[in-house]
Amino acid sequence: MTIQGQRWVSPSLLARKMLCAAYIPSPIAEQERFRLRALHVMTLVIVIKRYLKSGFRLLALERAGQGWRIDLLFEAAVSARKRLVEVKSGKRMREVHRIQAALYAHKISADEIAVSNRYEDEVLSSEFIKKIQQRAELTRQLITNDPMRSATLYTPHPDVCYTCANSCCPFLEASRNSETRA
Ligand code: SF4
Repeated sequence: MTIQGQRWVSPSLLARKMLCAAYIPSPIAEQERFRLRALHVMTLVIVIKRYLKSGFRLLALERAGQGWRIDLLFEAAVSARKRLVEVKSGKRMREVHRIQAALYAHKISADEIAVSNRYEDEVLSSEFIKKIQQRAELTRQLITNDPMRSATLYTPHPDVCYTCANSCCPFLEASRNSETRA
């Protein structure tokens, strides 16, 4: 699969392209897809329970658009602030998760964006979201206007290499052995 030359890129893929422009997502086997989906649903339940206990109201669950899906939208009971929440089933927060969540900033109206896993919630700063939006535009321009160059701009990163399928990359094998999916 290649997205070089395309202007529109899903937030999930764009977040990874921002860390390595040469990234190509590896296909996921059906059984593995099912396992990851089940894990994600279990984490959603844990996160929802935690938010409800903390005084939030659930407004929306898995709201989707073209190529994206926002996991949860809450409203704080006291302040009425709306919080969009990207849920991750991995044990630790990754930079790629924060980037992906920041790319949802204009998808639906919310006052803040957080990344949550089964253990914690991390609210992104407005400075971070703004910086990511600017970087995203630069990455979009690169992969659209100079696909040949972007396809060979290898920048190894532990958040993306382990799910990459760019067989031309000299870092692929070493990276695959060092990380696993959630
Ligand atoms: S394996 Fe290579 S192409 Fe893929 S993300 Fe890592 S550095 Fe980039």
